Amino acid sequence: MEITQKITGKQPTQAELAAENQSLRARLAYLIEQAERNHSIMTRHQAFDLEIVGAASFPELIGTIFRTLPVISDLDAVTLALVDVGDDIRTVMEKLGVDFADFPDLLFVPDVESLAFDLDPGLAPKPYLGMFDAQKHGRQFALPGMRLQSVGIVPLLRNKRLIGSLNLGSLDPTRFSPSLGTDFVEHMASIIAICLENVISNEMLKYMGLTDALTGVFNRRYVDRRLLEEIARARRQSYPVSFMYIDIDHFKRVNDTVGHGGGDEVLREVANRIKAELRLSDALARFGGEEFVVLLIDADLESATYVGERIRAGIAASMIELSHGVKVSITASVGVSSLAQVPDGSTPEEQATQLIEQADEALYQAKEGGRNRVIRYAA
Ligand code: GH3
Ligand code: MG
Ligand code: MG
Repeated sequence: MEITQKITGKQPTQAELAAENQSLRARLAYLIEQAERNHSIMTRHQAFDLEIVGAASFPELIGTIFRTLPVISDLDAVTLALVDVGDDIRTVMEKLGVDFADFPDLLFVPDVESLAFDLDPGLAPKPYLGMFDAQKHGRQFALPGMRLQSVGIVPLLRNKRLIGSLNLGSLDPTRFSPSLGTDFVEHMASIIAICLENVISNEMLKYMGLTDALTGVFNRRYVDRRLLEEIARARRQSYPVSFMYIDIDHFKRVNDTVGHGGGDEVLREVANRIKAELRLSDALARFGGEEFVVLLIDADLESATYVGERIRAGIAASMIELSHGVKVSITASVGVSSLAQVPDGSTPEEQATQLIEQADEALYQAKEGGRNRVIRYAA
């Protein structure tokens, strides 16, 4: 706005001064309103930053971003694309129990080329602010029925590495335009990128602490912990829980004939064959050496024995072909126990110990009885 005083040599009239005064007041009121609006946006974003920095897990972080960002930034769509080479992040999160159906606005892409940026070698990608182009950005916003007009596609960078994109969409065609400064969105994206990298590496560590590196199934620590939770819950809600001990027969001979590396391959294939017979709610773990255990949720002794029989048959059904072409025949013995046979009243720890011991006892009988068989524990 221009102040109307002109250097004319003449004194302004009373009316001119009054008009100028009024226009200055209006200008001031507008600036104060802008400042208050900016302050309120800043405050909301600072609260958002604090909230995402404090997110303890991947689902908590993603959930907070999708729940809060559209509201505080007044956006019609917010999605995230994450580069996930080899599906590692997705696989680990699924194993840790993340249900991706809860996050329809999260998408994984196999490489940086699948993000909507024009990549110049050696140059960090820049945010795109402008009109929505279905061909270019359709993949980032798979929102049926929503007619986005303008979008902000902001790179998520960590140490100059492109890890994904934050995708902001609006029904307002003037919301994002190339003339808009990118500092604000870049700052927001850098905080989101740090938080994402942080929770993803934490979840990876958690995963490594709970899984067996050789076979990828859970480890003993996981089962010990999960058993306590499941026993407490099953007693409260009265549904059956069963336990299965699986031990490969004469595994020493397998190692002796195909070597330790060959034995490792057998262990991986046996884990796969066991998994093929289980439900999503069951937990398979390698307890050590050539021993596996399965925690079966909502299965009584009879149905657990039936599953055990399918596992036994699946392992014995066909020879396992090793990478250098050699084939080996494998059998396993299985012992099954059920929480129903463990007296209630003792601590979950004691009940867990008894449940494992009973399955071990049944396994011992299966070995004694000639191996390649399933025995259920009988009190
Ligand atoms: P049984 O039918 O009585 O179970 O006979 P077994 O030979 O399987 O008996 P045992 O449990 O005593 O032997 C297990 C063998 O498994 C001993 C060890 O050499 C082998 N083993 C333990 N851990 C690993 C491993 O990580 N990789 C490989 N390849 N072998 C392992
Ligand atoms: Mg053994
Ligand atoms: Mg054995």
